[in-house]
Amino acid sequence: MLDFPGRVASLVFTGGCNLTCPFCHNAGLVLDPDSYPDYPLDELLADLKQREGFIDGVVISGGEPTIDAGLPAFLSLLKERNLQVKLDSNGLAPEVIAHLLEQQLVDYFAIDIKTSLSRYNELHTIPVATEALRETVKILKKAPVEVEFRTTCIPHLVAEAEVDGMGQLLHGAPLWVFQQYVPLHAMVEELQQYDVYRPEQLYALAERAKGYVDQIQVRGI
Ligand code: SF4
Repeated sequence: MLDFPGRVASLVFTGGCNLTCPFCHNAGLVLDPDSYPDYPLDELLADLKQREGFIDGVVISGGEPTIDAGLPAFLSLLKERNLQVKLDSNGLAPEVIAHLLEQQLVDYFAIDIKTSLSRYNELHTIPVATEALRETVKILKKAPVEVEFRTTCIPHLVAEAEVDGMGQLLHGAPLWVFQQYVPLHAMVEELQQYDVYRPEQLYALAERAKGYVDQIQVRGI
């Protein structure tokens, strides 16, 4: 039950991802999703039914939910049950985002902006199609639903230059969230030893970002 501002929600994870971020906290889900038992749909819906009246909605996270072809149909089932939906995504599938928006299947999009676009190739073993992320940002900047762009502030990936790069991308967006990084479960062991920003450093980065978007939030400190 977490991570849906102002609401009580159940959390559903999908397996697999189209990135392999070295700092990822869900390495098992990303690298070996089949090692996890499947959660049959009817059981999942029955569990949600039991929570009726207690939860406001469901958070869909991963992995990367937009690579799951069954996502729109699943979200339709949630909407039929009058549940609100928050979708966590890395934003690399703008056609899926646009479809979900058009079908009114998502109430709250949380899109990761991990670093400046010029550094996205450090997040995967093959080149990353950053134009796709640019398109998602364009679609969601003016979308008639709640949207947050969020950046986990990992010192070697997010410093002043990257804040400026991301700021130019997000210019005019409603909300940009700066999150503290927790290194403990990083996919690449070396990153588990990395220092994190002190609170005053994180606030200084957030301050720098203020001119780019309508609202800044800092989380996790
Ligand atoms: S996009 Fe998210 S789930 Fe995928 S590897 Fe990166 S941090 Fe992990």
